[in-house]
Amino acid sequence: MAILTAFSGLGGKAPAAFLLEIAGRRLLLDLGEGPRPGQRPDLEGIGPIDAIFLSHAHIDHVGAIDLWPGLGRPPVFATRATFDALPLLGLHLPPQACHDLPARGPARLLDLPVTVGRDGHALGGLWLHLPQEGGALYMGDWSRESEILPLDPPPPADLVITDLSYGDRDQPLAEQVQALADSITPSTVLPVPILGRGADMARHLSALGLSPVVCPQIRVEMQGALPALRVIATPSEARDGDVIIVADTERPGDLMSCLIADARGWRFVLTGHVAPGSAAAGLIADGRATRRNWNVHPRARDQIWLAGITRARHLVPAFGALDDAPDLAQALAGVWGTGRENS
Ligand SMILES: [Zn+2]
Repeated sequence: MAILTAFSGLGGKAPAAFLLEIAGRRLLLDLGEGPRPGQRPDLEGIGPIDAIFLSHAHIDHVGAIDLWPGLGRPPVFATRATFDALPLLGLHLPPQACHDLPARGPARLLDLPVTVGRDGHALGGLWLHLPQEGGALYMGDWSRESEILPLDPPPPADLVITDLSYGDRDQPLAEQVQALADSITPSTVLPVPILGRGADMARHLSALGLSPVVCPQIRVEMQGALPALRVIATPSEARDGDVIIVADTERPGDLMSCLIADARGWRFVLTGHVAPGSAAAGLIADGRATRRNWNVHPRARDQIWLAGITRARHLVPAFGALDDAPDLAQALAGVWGTGRENS
């Protein structure tokens, strides 16, 4: 069976960095930073790496890719959409390091035959399945609830690394949409990560008659849908009363930081993880932001579904702690019954 070493990403919200040793290869699965500012994996003693796989272009999965030269400059595998998004986050890889994977279907990672599929979480986001040694499946971040981003059901695998960001949470997104809409007052900003929930949010809020304004990045992510939505690139283009969906790149000078600094005093509704020490935490502390849920990770029922379709013998809960999800832990024990375990 394959050997998995979590350099980071177990036991709570932490940057992704997993070493998978399989079929004689040493593969680094993601190399993230955050969500706490400056939170980076400690790769001390990791040894030689044959290749890096990047699941999707969110900071907590790619933010430490600047460590690439110190890892022996191995080839990096991801979709073209993920590679193209790195510069938006202030990250850069030389073109010769970048090896494109398809959005779904059979592929090769080095000389290994693998299968990839869309993760339902991020534009260009992938899960990775390796059939060797009983099968290993890395889900990265994933969701079954996006209307715009489909999830391809993955194949069976003995070893499955899943996304436990939400622990026991089982509330459907459909219920959260109305609660978010109800919380929005004029002159509200809705920050979202790039390539993620922004397009879904624009569609849902538009359907409820809210006519949000979007930044140029979200406009691109909408892939031509709702062409009538107004686009703003600077705070001066925003009108009083606007409801603005803005991609937050967590970089100084981006539209989000300009809106925070704007004299008009915008209010913010946050729908993602709020890390201690982050700009989002500061907005809440200052009374300028509130929080609402908007699912972009699997619910408890989705974990049960995944355990069932993959027939996992070892289910590794990443980005959360099973101790914080007692109901799910009990439900999974029921799914297993005979001989399988979570590790
Ligand atoms: Zn993500």
